[in-house]
Amino acid sequence: MRREVGGLQSSAGEPPADGSSELWDRCAQSVGGGVSSGLRRTIMPWPLFVERGQGCRVWDVDGREYIDYVMGWGPLILGHSHPELIHAVRDQLELGSLYGTGHRLEYTAAEMVIESVPGLQRILWSNTGTEAVHVAMRLARAHTGRTKIIKFVGGYHGWTDSVLASYSSHTAGTAATSNSKGQSVAAQQDLIVLPFGDVSSVTEVLSHAAAEGVAGVLIDPIMSNYGLIEPPAGYLEAVRSACTANNVVLIFDDVIAGFRIALGGSTERFGVVPDLVVFAKAIAGGFSQSAVGGSAQLIDQVLDGVVHAGTYNGNPIALAAVRATLTQLRQPGRYAALEDTAQSLADGLNAIFSELRAPLHAHHLGPIVQMMPIAAGQEVAFGPGIDWSYWDMLTNACRQRGLFLLPRGRLFLSTVHGADDIAETIAAFRDAVRQLR
Ligand code: PMP
Repeated sequence: MRREVGGLQSSAGEPPADGSSELWDRCAQSVGGGVSSGLRRTIMPWPLFVERGQGCRVWDVDGREYIDYVMGWGPLILGHSHPELIHAVRDQLELGSLYGTGHRLEYTAAEMVIESVPGLQRILWSNTGTEAVHVAMRLARAHTGRTKIIKFVGGYHGWTDSVLASYSSHTAGTAATSNSKGQSVAAQQDLIVLPFGDVSSVTEVLSHAAAEGVAGVLIDPIMSNYGLIEPPAGYLEAVRSACTANNVVLIFDDVIAGFRIALGGSTERFGVVPDLVVFAKAIAGGFSQSAVGGSAQLIDQVLDGVVHAGTYNGNPIALAAVRATLTQLRQPGRYAALEDTAQSLADGLNAIFSELRAPLHAHHLGPIVQMMPIAAGQEVAFGPGIDWSYWDMLTNACRQRGLFLLPRGRLFLSTVHGADDIAETIAAFRDAVRQLR
């Protein structure tokens, strides 16, 4: 399964075979594709096989240490094995891992979520972001008696047939482009796909919502999987009022943004309150729990014919993790510190890129840093056509210098990435960029 790192082999150097590449080969004999989630195959030069994680660092099967910017693809907002989180989960494990009926953590954790995010009255627990998005769309459809959902080009909302569309590629027009073989064409017919950030296209469609059968707008307000884009000024407000005027349910997909860009996620950061909001990832600090939050009126539809189910929903292990994570995140100064860390990393990286004329530029939104390729001095818009070959080579060169990075230029930070880690990271990048010159 070992692969070449695209582009300039001679300057990037052949990635040295290591324990991870060998274990990946072995893994592929028993695990389909050699990874447990398809996107992990895109980790360059191959998936790292990790022995343990502590704080902001991981150690691979060869005993090598890395500063981790993958952070489990977002959830590890407190880093690996945060003592308070581990403590809470260990204590709960002694009391049982699953009851399949009521327990106190269900409401104590829900109350913490409701207190943290403006506009919430109720929570429904589920396990993954994909499931919670599904629940939110069902609530929107039940509430409006309509079926269509507006999503945006490049938005990722999980891998189900009904939303895995127009993310990795999109054909012009408002019809969905499916992104996997084997998808139901019928499910995709309920999508209307629009460009992100354009007020007129979304308000135009929403003005015919009743006639078109539009139930909801599903939006990741920061396009966290598509270049990390700050919503243009007034955009979310315009979408909000057009949804209200046309009885359409506004759903924020805060799977990445929630509890990461602010305690109250996109709602707090941008001051626009959606009807429903979906959380996963950072809410449980690395355990598998997701949630849909909203008004009592929308959520209580579960008492009136809307099915919401799941054996592991609200399991005490994950909810102990939610409670411990939110307890940490509520401490004063947490988000200001995360913002400062991200700012210093982005600034340090940009200084290197301009000094050494590397074709990249870094920006950040909360504790997420996104690097984008630059062509002829101009930042390139995110999209399927982007040439990531320089990033791939740089990732490989950085990995050899003790940094573990995601594909496509994105870095997740945590509360335990400190000034020394940032300085070490910037030095490793400088060295790697030099090597590639
Ligand atoms: N929405 C967004 C914005 C995401 O980033 C993701 C996962 N990367 C999902 C939904 C799906 O979440 P999960 O992988 O937990 O199913």
